[in-house]
Amino acid sequence: MSKPVVAIIGRPNVGKSTLFNAIAGEQISIVKDTPGVTRDRIYADCSWLDMNFTLIATGGIEPDSSDIILSQMREQAEIAIETADVIVFITDVRQGLVDSDSKVCDMLRKSRKPVVLAVNKVDSMAKFGNDVYEFYNLGIGDPIPVSAASRLGIGDLLEAVAEHFKSKGNQDDEDDDRPRIAIVGKPNVGKSSIINRLTGQNRVIVSDIAGTTRDAIDTVVVNNKQEYVFIDTAGLRRKSKVKEDIERYSIIRTVTAVDRADVVILVIDANEGVTEQDAKIAGIAHDKGKGIIVAVNKWDLIEKDNKTIYEYTSNIKRILSFMPYAEFVFISALSGQRLQKLFEMIDIVRENQ
Ligand code: GDP
Ligand code: GDP
Repeated sequence: MSKPVVAIIGRPNVGKSTLFNAIAGEQISIVKDTPGVTRDRIYADCSWLDMNFTLIATGGIEPDSSDIILSQMREQAEIAIETADVIVFITDVRQGLVDSDSKVCDMLRKSRKPVVLAVNKVDSMAKFGNDVYEFYNLGIGDPIPVSAASRLGIGDLLEAVAEHFKSKGNQDDEDDDRPRIAIVGKPNVGKSSIINRLTGQNRVIVSDIAGTTRDAIDTVVVNNKQEYVFIDTAGLRRKSKVKEDIERYSIIRTVTAVDRADVVILVIDANEGVTEQDAKIAGIAHDKGKGIIVAVNKWDLIEKDNKTIYEYTSNIKRILSFMPYAEFVFISALSGQRLQKLFEMIDIVRENQ
């Protein structure tokens, strides 16, 4: 079942990380031997009352000149609009309402995404309660006073967030019993080529389920009269000068696609073998308990003898030892070799879930 995605955005120093930790808290499921998952807290699987959701932190903004802050905030907001079901916009009662808050709120309003407005650092209602009213001027609904540091008001905030799950949840995904597959992997491993090849060989329907909760377009491929929904992960190809940002976006993209998927196909480049980044991406799918197929692509480029597949498999299994259940397939998007087998494997993985 797919979980709603909640993104926290706001200016530097308003308390985004503190709020992230207050919500994720000890609930964060730390799978110790999963690479990458414990180190960067870009996302956390959370639950509150009977709701499960994925919390994402869209980005670190370096406090610099105010121009740069605004442009980075816009970028943050765009990512949140693209990937999240609900956006938590956090402001700071002590700094009051500032111009960049209003500008970002204009963007959020136009996107029509559900937004919950949190006013942080209200450590004492007696002292700061009245200052919260100013934030009504943002025009995006009732400001909710919180103190992330002392964990006050978090319940009210999550209640407001959860209201939007009910009205705008992923009903379209839940009513849909077709297998949903996310093709993930680092850039250039051949994800688009695989999708193109699959859609080229099979009858394709442009999905009409897209755009209801997310702007991504899903691709439906028919194989043996069964429809398979491939979740688009190419939508968020952001350019950024900062390497950490590119990696962060790729993780957010992966997390949100994996969330919606029943089966994850992790694509690895046969030429490179499993790299640290591959292991990190694998860690996300593992952490979220999804069925995983490791597709070793560009197999056409490898000189082989009768031991090659065996050696490759044992090598990859050693590096991905935290997910011994993963299935393996060696493919070539270029020649089409064994692409058909992917469908069989998807069916097997689903049956075992
Ligand atoms: P970010 O840059 O938006 O992620 O902000 P941080 O979470 O790093 O917090 C910035 C500063 O505000 C830190 O010094 C926090 O300790 C402080 N802070 C965060 N939440 C609160 C709060 O509820 N009350 C007070 N008084 N300080 C807070
Ligand atoms: P993505 O970034 O993961 O979507 O990767 P692309 O699908 O854009 O592929 C990256 C590059 O690898 C392109 O130049 C493809 O033509 C090439 N490529 C993809 N699949 C194969 C394959 O199976 N064999 C070979 N030799 N090249 C491939």
